[in-house]
Amino acid sequence: MGDFDDLIAANKGFAEHFELGGFDGVAHAGVAVVTCMDSRIDPLRMLGLVPGDAKIFRNPGGRVSEQAMEALVLGVHILGVERILIVPHTRCAMASNTERELQVQVEKSSGQDVSWHRFHVIADQIASLQEDVKRVQTHPLIPESVKVGGFMYYVDTGLIEQKF
Ligand SMILES: [Zn+2]
Repeated sequence: MGDFDDLIAANKGFAEHFELGGFDGVAHAGVAVVTCMDSRIDPLRMLGLVPGDAKIFRNPGGRVSEQAMEALVLGVHILGVERILIVPHTRCAMASNTERELQVQVEKSSGQDVSWHRFHVIADQIASLQEDVKRVQTHPLIPESVKVGGFMYYVDTGLIEQKF
């Protein structure tokens, strides 16, 4: 008890001005975003969107993992998604460390052997982005009418740039 008090208190303030009650779960702007868990990224605001507009799937690196693909298929067929943006970012820890370097950092923190745990680092962000865009575009359950774009997000300017 108490470990989350500050956040629970902040939530009460949030709920006082809450206007999304009874709102459906459809992506009202028809947008889905796959991006990194990085705390510098604000996926809605960076695209001029607001809560209710988009489906957001995040993981370390912003890769189109199996789980991301599950989310995108559901988004397209059930939740109104018509455009998909895949958005890795500059200065991403997943792309600037080797698998071993991340393991060493976690070993230092945990005091345990981490050699058995994979973090799926990204050797070449642009090549991986291209692969991910293709993976979504060619998925049998993603219709051709759905637009898929691969973008880089620049954490020091806030700009996105379309690569694919
Ligand atoms: Zn990242």
